[in-house]
Amino acid sequence: MKKLVYADNAATTRLSPKAYESMLPYLLNEYGNASQPYSFARSPKRALKQARETIAECIGALPEEIFFTSCGTESDNWVINGAIKNELPIVTSSIEHHAILRPCEQAEMDGCNVVYLPVSKDGVVSVIEANQNMKSSSGLLSVMFANNEIGTIQPVAELAEVAHKKGWVFHTDAVQAIGHISIDVHRMGIDMLSASAHKFNGPKGVGFLYMKKGLVWPSFIKGGRQEYGFRAGTENVASIVGMATALEENLAQIHLSIERICGLENKLIEKLNALGVAYVHNGSENHIAGNVSLSFPGFNGEAIMHRLDLKGICVSTGSACDSKETQISHVLKSIGIDDVLAKGTIRVSLGKYNTIEDVNMIVHAIKSILECRV
Ligand code: PLP
Repeated sequence: MKKLVYADNAATTRLSPKAYESMLPYLLNEYGNASQPYSFARSPKRALKQARETIAECIGALPEEIFFTSCGTESDNWVINGAIKNELPIVTSSIEHHAILRPCEQAEMDGCNVVYLPVSKDGVVSVIEANQNMKSSSGLLSVMFANNEIGTIQPVAELAEVAHKKGWVFHTDAVQAIGHISIDVHRMGIDMLSASAHKFNGPKGVGFLYMKKGLVWPSFIKGGRQEYGFRAGTENVASIVGMATALEENLAQIHLSIERICGLENKLIEKLNALGVAYVHNGSENHIAGNVSLSFPGFNGEAIMHRLDLKGICVSTGSACDSKETQISHVLKSIGIDDVLAKGTIRVSLGKYNTIEDVNMIVHAIKSILECRV
């Protein structure tokens, strides 16, 4: 059987066995509704409380500041919809995920003023420009922690600081960052943060929104009294427990993990160079370990991705969440990559389960595909 080389960890990650094990009791035996008062609901209720405490501790928050959601998209939508309801102007970046950009389009249609900050050729937002664009006495500044296509990390603490000086709320979409770098929301001055478990070896279909205590923000999903009355819907206890386990596990080995994945990434680049492959490496030096965006001049990224697939290797072209769309990636456009080069782009995203053998296979496969001129 062909070996699978999974190198699309920015799209989703493999569930950690430890997270999987932790979920099982709540799928099979401890299935009570955590909101019920009887004793059979005590165990899921306790598990929910424990998961909230674990997640809060992992990001330097208080347990009551964590609100469980169904995914990163829901957390992002909650934030932008709150700004719409509060009639706040929004300043965001041109390289946000569509989970932010699409609701921002809605905000514009609803009459909110939305400014999309440009980024440098490395994909970094300017703190000075953010500051200049927060013009009224209140508003929402929403800038992602790390980009999904090129991995670039933004100056989040500085952005939060300038937002507060203007009386604005600061949100960050940390879906690509949480579980991959250390984040302390209180120390960094973050008011709201979106996260998604399946990006850090947790299960799919669960995420959370951190909201700083005291922040007045409208609820999003209305119904029951779950999540302090701010996010209705019976809690997905098993997935929430799996998310907490995965986050704690990743953060316990974060420095080692970053070092290992950076090592794999360096080997990938070294080997491409040694084989004389011509490419442009997009993004910044300061990026999420393992997120490698490569443009091959004169080639078609989609064709490369499909040929790699035939060899059992998973990578993506542009943003994996949007792989059905054929438009040029808005992120590559924003960093000034021309359309022809952008079309020749693939994203290799390495994770904690990748090995040096995987890297060797990826490099040799790319080399042989390019030699066939796809
Ligand atoms: N934000 C970013 C930066 C992402 O990369 C993604 C998914 O790729 C999302 C939001 C959406 O997360 P989810 O898949 O959990 O809805």
